[in-house]
Amino acid sequence: MFDSDLDRQKTETGAATPGRPDGKSPAAAPSNIQRRVFLGTSLATLAGLALWQWRKPATLVTVAASAPGMPEDVTVVLFSESGERLKKVTIAKVIKTPDEWRKQLSANAYDITRNADTEMAFSGQYWNLHDKGIYRCICCDNALFDSATKFESGTGWPSFWQPIAGENVTEIRDSSLGMARTAVSCTECGAHLGHVFDDGPQPTGLRYCMNSASLRFVKQA
Ligand SMILES: [Zn+2]
Repeated sequence: MFDSDLDRQKTETGAATPGRPDGKSPAAAPSNIQRRVFLGTSLATLAGLALWQWRKPATLVTVAASAPGMPEDVTVVLFSESGERLKKVTIAKVIKTPDEWRKQLSANAYDITRNADTEMAFSGQYWNLHDKGIYRCICCDNALFDSATKFESGTGWPSFWQPIAGENVTEIRDSSLGMARTAVSCTECGAHLGHVFDDGPQPTGLRYCMNSASLRFVKQA
């Protein structure tokens, strides 16, 4: 329909062309073919674009979700202040701008949690703490570790043999500093917490080597 409307317009224009009483210039036929080819190409391009847009939403959503301010759901387990496991919930990931994090955190905690820095061994406030309680994320308060799984690693960093709930931490392969390590971050806000190694004690054999500055200890009443 679109095609024939254009053809008609072309014919009418041709008829009105001075010096060509028959309304059909010798070039009319090839010109029409060219127009058809052009239209065909354009329609194919449009169809291709439509198809591309239809096939792309997953990628677009992924990109959009990581943009500041865009919601992304995460699943974590809630714990009471006394360390009692409450329930598993799916909530919006905590996303803030660097400026917002800077206002909320000390410079040291900001560098460690938001820029994956590491505190000096034996410098943090929790490596030698033996009180009963749970350790929460300094950024978003997500429960991360229970003192019942804390052990003396001799490293100068608070060390645990398992997180309080597997859902609450996210482990990512980290090849920075030329080493193959597994970085551990807070599932709820993405804060860098430390690394996990496989030289820990039983029952897991894992050593979650954390930065004190990423944590907030809540003593059991
Ligand atoms: Zn967090």
